[in-house]
Amino acid sequence: MSDGFLTDDHHRLRQRVRAFAETEVAPHVAAMESSGRVETALAQLIAAQGWIGVTIDPAYGGMGAGHLAKTLIIEELARISGAMGAMAQASQLGTATIINYGNDDQKQRWLPQIAAGTCLPTIAVTEPGSGSHVLGMRSTARRTGRGARTHYVLTGRKSWIGNSHIGHLHAVVVRTGRGSRGLSAFGVEHDRPGLTATPYRPAMGLRGFGFGELILDRCRVPAANLIGQIGDGLAIAYSSSILYGRPNLTAVALGLHQAIVDQTVSFAQHRRRYNAPLAQLPTIRDKIGLLQQRLMTARILAYHAVHQLDHGQPCDHDLINAKYLNVAASRDSARDAMDIHAAAALHTDLPLERFFRDVQHLFAPAGTGDIQLHRLAEAALGLGHRQWSQRLAHLTRHHPDATQTRTSAPAHPTAPA
Ligand SMILES: Cc1cc2nc3c(=O)[nH]c(=O)nc-3n(C[C@H](O)[C@H](O)[C@H](O)COP(=O)(O)OP(=O)(O)OC[C@H]3O[C@@H](n4cnc5c(N)ncnc54)[C@H](O)[C@@H]3O)c2cc1C
Repeated sequence: MSDGFLTDDHHRLRQRVRAFAETEVAPHVAAMESSGRVETALAQLIAAQGWIGVTIDPAYGGMGAGHLAKTLIIEELARISGAMGAMAQASQLGTATIINYGNDDQKQRWLPQIAAGTCLPTIAVTEPGSGSHVLGMRSTARRTGRGARTHYVLTGRKSWIGNSHIGHLHAVVVRTGRGSRGLSAFGVEHDRPGLTATPYRPAMGLRGFGFGELILDRCRVPAANLIGQIGDGLAIAYSSSILYGRPNLTAVALGLHQAIVDQTVSFAQHRRRYNAPLAQLPTIRDKIGLLQQRLMTARILAYHAVHQLDHGQPCDHDLINAKYLNVAASRDSARDAMDIHAAAALHTDLPLERFFRDVQHLFAPAGTGDIQLHRLAEAALGLGHRQWSQRLAHLTRHHPDATQTRTSAPAHPTAPA
């Protein structure tokens, strides 16, 4: 059923990413788990496939393949490595800020590099003192100088920023005034004086994926790096989170969920108890049925939401619902899969305990589960605002006729003439 959303190009892309993940990513998973380091080289190899540029217009060297294609790429990477799925999704968020709000100069400066995989962007919104309360952020930008010498001086602290250690360009949202029109976004190159990424702290899961702090200590940024207009910061943060963040985390959850089901089915078929495969026990079968039911439902919601995005349909609530359900379902399935494996689940010779740890990371980013329910309640009560998928439909709509889906990396990404 969910395959009904996929074109032949989508199927080919899935096969290509799957083959890559199985041959190039899988051999690194054990080392990522044990090394306690950010996996930089593999992230660069993935970026070099052109996949961070999946939604970038071919005029800038991107694949121009749309949002369902992006979901498939992230899903297939996450099926083998949640960490590399998370890496690919995080840089898509930084890309979104430029696609949606960058001016022509910024698009020509940054998008071809992102599409080629030589520039990994990030988005830096969250702060330790505000979390979900985006408007509670305290980091600031102060304007200085005049005319061509106008700069902004950024000061503050951003936390849990995906790809903070390996990112080349951080789309940082800070305060430039009061209230909801008092936030603005700046592209901050990783080597600007005054910007520091704090060292990697290994977390519970997604080992090899770096998400950490960015410290801005009077970091001077030229006015040319202002993304959008002064006061657009909240719109940039929200639109990126809804149109890219939600479906990206959905895709990571989906890939991990598929891996959980595959692992559990294989285990139940090969594990022998009572002189028969474990899968013969009715209670185990019921649990496997439940895993399969959750996975199928989650996949339909995931693909349907981005299919609508590709077709310029209003779908914010579908994107929100898909993120909520995919994350919740993958966590529920991870727990049930642990029960099916019983004691065997607890050791690292099987990947299940890794999957269990990895899915815990998906609750918080791009809106916690509570925030998704809050937004869905607003929609039900008629309190929502105009949807981002409507406002930016001219940018999210994917025209397959005009941009034949590319399944290979751009050889020589070019800026538009
Ligand atoms: C793997 C990972 C990657 C991330 N990547 C990025 C990134 O690239 N860029 C970035 O800017 N940030 C990133 N984040 C940060 C993420 O956006 C925040 O974790 C998130 O906004 C929640 O903030 P918090 O963790 O401080 O939780 P809090 O906001 O402190 O929430 C604590 C609890 O209160 C609940 N809560 C909060 N507000 C409400 C509300 N209004 N209604 C009901 N319940 C509420 C929450 O659901 C939660 O249960 C990432 C986080 C993780 C874990």
